[in-house]
Amino acid sequence: MSDESVHVAMFPSAGMGHLTPFLRLASLLLTHHCKVTLITPLPTVSHAESQLLSHFHSSFPQLNLIPFHLPPPPSPPISGDPFFLRVQTLRNSTHLLPPLISSLSPPLSLFISDIFLVTPCLSITQKLSLPNYTLFTSSASMFSFFSHFPTLAQSKFDLSDEIHIPGIPFSPLPCSSIPPILLHPSVFRNIIMEDSPNLTKLDGVFLNTFEALESHSLKALSDGKVVKDMPPVYAVGPFVPFKFEAEASPSSSPLLINWLDEQPIGSVVYVCFGSRTALGRDQMREIGNGLMTSGYNFLWVVKDKIVDKEDEEIGLDEVLGVELVERMKKKGLVIKEWVDQSEILSHKSVGGFVSHCGWNSIAEAALNGVPILAWPQHGDQKINAGLVEVSGWGIWNKSWGWGGERVVQGEEIGDAIKEIMENELLKVKAMELKEGGKKAISVGGDCEVTIQKLILKWKNDV
Ligand code: UDP
Ligand code: UDP
Ligand code: UDP
Repeated sequence: MSDESVHVAMFPSAGMGHLTPFLRLASLLLTHHCKVTLITPLPTVSHAESQLLSHFHSSFPQLNLIPFHLPPPPSPPISGDPFFLRVQTLRNSTHLLPPLISSLSPPLSLFISDIFLVTPCLSITQKLSLPNYTLFTSSASMFSFFSHFPTLAQSKFDLSDEIHIPGIPFSPLPCSSIPPILLHPSVFRNIIMEDSPNLTKLDGVFLNTFEALESHSLKALSDGKVVKDMPPVYAVGPFVPFKFEAEASPSSSPLLINWLDEQPIGSVVYVCFGSRTALGRDQMREIGNGLMTSGYNFLWVVKDKIVDKEDEEIGLDEVLGVELVERMKKKGLVIKEWVDQSEILSHKSVGGFVSHCGWNSIAEAALNGVPILAWPQHGDQKINAGLVEVSGWGIWNKSWGWGGERVVQGEEIGDAIKEIMENELLKVKAMELKEGGKKAISVGGDCEVTIQKLILKWKNDV
């Protein structure tokens, strides 16, 4: 039954960590016969984003993709990070939305904005009496933190304290787990301080998570234990990657998959720090040494620059040194370009994942039952690492600190890799989560039930 009486507009911010979950939610809504308009900020910051958009649109031609052409960023730049700069430009540009929204047909039923755009979007949607939801792109634990942060900031905590955050299953947590960028005046701190108190004005919050992974946080959020008057929180994960994402990966893909096909089941350690985290070269060389000492075969995705367009010209030899590159050829594959991570994580040869704990990566690993060596680098990642640890399907060595705090030595890395590849308890727990994730997205599972109920509500609200 085609049902286009529900028309959803979606407005993502910047980076693959945000665009990917937006498109995965969009595909879920399209599959349930909603009309979806994607308001698409252009030009994209990274090459990977424009590739993904183009593949998505070819696979879902019914998607109404509306370009959102941006004015130049504020001058002087308020951040050296091009993704954060984009968030700020988007926040300053929402006055361009009303004519665009009123030109859409049929009229919108609801608007789903990125978590980094909450207040500026609400100021528009409230005037139009348009229901406004957000997609939070991290864990329910991190959402609890995000919601509670203004209260925490007022409490003038001491950095040596442990902090209590309602909704986080491993609370109290050390102050060292707070995203460093929130510990001093910064653009991001201003955003969270402005947006967090406005969460209660939203109609609902979508999360890429599921009961078996985050029941504690989901219950606390729904019971008003984190913030009173919290709008409904909808766990519609783990988001399912679509086939077109494999097409968006580079020409090396067949080589890579052929190589994985040749390896014994569960024997390969996969290393990737997401779409926008470049490690220091000293640290990368130690990772190379660590992989070699672990004795395991490996697939390692190397990133030398935050934005992929700048990464293209620099070769592996320059980043890692010729000698290490040669040595590693005997034990693994080292790739310095975009890979299809979901395809890799779902491959039977992969037995462990060294991850920065970006939430999309963690949700993908959960869906595939892959044990994690958590190595958080910045932002929300220590909170996600805490969740992996407490859930029992990964390990996190806290002495490694944030990215760049110290150079973690190859021997330590090799030992930690051995542990995730050999610890049977981690494997059992990871398989349990996989089962829970599969159940959540099965026919008649939590995800489908939630989306169907929402569609009914949206139709009745028109
Ligand atoms: N990813 C990928 N190939 C790469 C690097 C990253 O497919 O070479 C994907 C990964 O599967 C995930 C997203 O990019 O869906 C990264 O999001 P995450 O939240 O894990 O980290 P971020 O990049 O935002 O730090
Ligand atoms: N960063 C990021 N994602 C985050 C937080 C930080 O990519 O969620 C990157 C970003 O490039 C930022 C840098 O890491 O400029 C340093 O971040 P950190 O949180 O350490 O901020 P600091 O306290 O050093 O300002
Ligand atoms: N976040 C933060 N500092 C940053 C960037 C992000 O504290 O500099 C927090 C923010 O509260 C956000 C959460 O991390 O809701 C998730 O960040 P995300 O992984 O989406 O950011 P990314 O690393 O992809 O830019």
